[in-house]
Amino acid sequence: MKPGPVTSDLTNLDALEAAGMTDPAEREMLEEVASAFRVRVTADMAAVGSEGVRAQFAPDIRELSVLPEEMVDPIGDEAHAPVPGLTHRYPDRAILHATKVCEVYCRFCFRRETVGEAGHLGAAEFEAVLDYLRATPAVREVILTGGDPLVLSARRLGGMLDRLEALGTLEVVRVHTRVPVVAPEKVTEALVRVLDRALPVWVVVHTNHPDEMTEAAAGALRRLSRAGVPLLSQTVLLRGVNAEVEVLERLFRVLIRNRVKPYYLHHPDQAKGTGHFRVTLEEGQAIMAALRGRLTGIAQPVYVLDIPGGHGKVPVGPGYLRAEGDHWVVTDPQGREHFYRAL
Ligand code: SF4
Repeated sequence: MKPGPVTSDLTNLDALEAAGMTDPAEREMLEEVASAFRVRVTADMAAVGSEGVRAQFAPDIRELSVLPEEMVDPIGDEAHAPVPGLTHRYPDRAILHATKVCEVYCRFCFRRETVGEAGHLGAAEFEAVLDYLRATPAVREVILTGGDPLVLSARRLGGMLDRLEALGTLEVVRVHTRVPVVAPEKVTEALVRVLDRALPVWVVVHTNHPDEMTEAAAGALRRLSRAGVPLLSQTVLLRGVNAEVEVLERLFRVLIRNRVKPYYLHHPDQAKGTGHFRVTLEEGQAIMAALRGRLTGIAQPVYVLDIPGGHGKVPVGPGYLRAEGDHWVVTDPQGREHFYRAL
């Protein structure tokens, strides 16, 4: 049977199957996958229909293969949580887990075993977070993540931002979100108003494939940029989705056309059951080197690795400089080497 048009969010295997996103012959094993890792795709993303988008959201039987190096908490959120709901890993910034709910559940998510749990950060937990931040003025930046903080109502999010702004110690708040792309209608004028405030709120849009940039997504980004909200992007490098120079070039170009600065390209984390998405670091570096030669500087993200165990994020892009005796050898974007003597 040919799948019909998708008009509502897909929240279970029946719906994904009816939309042609999963194979009925694999149903039994997919039930096992779906009982381990939540399933949800917005109508906007299901309607795109391309393989690069489908592969990010449709459960896959390869998720049942868990490799020895794969972990429940690959980047150490829990190991660095001074109070529930807050991760404090670097001196000047902390992550606030505002909610565990998302509009989509991505098959490669490094928080895949905790996202989707009911509810948002409770009032008492938020007070404890504020107490910690008050006692720790070295924290100048709070990063709202989740889940996806933009699933919160404008009123609720605005209330949290008001309290954070009132601390008087923060220079910036960052919101990491998939919403403008996967559920653009949720970027309402009311939501935009609460983000446009004296304390700068930077929005980091998570997007992995150029086909995600629908007309509606471009509209949501325009509403944000028109309000003066600075926009950055983060992308996960994923085999079967975007691990090709041409695909990433198209993605980064569409982002700058929509006033979004590509910020991070993440090497995929070692989350459980995600081995089929992982590329090698050498493959990632080769892609970045190729992009350097063909893409404007403002469209170049930093290729980063989150060191497993919560030891932080470091750039792992290709090297262009090596010391040789009393001089340096610099490699240009075409791979040619040049002599450079620094003072
Ligand atoms: S939207 Fe973000 S937090 Fe939610 S499942 Fe996808 S990657 Fe994970």
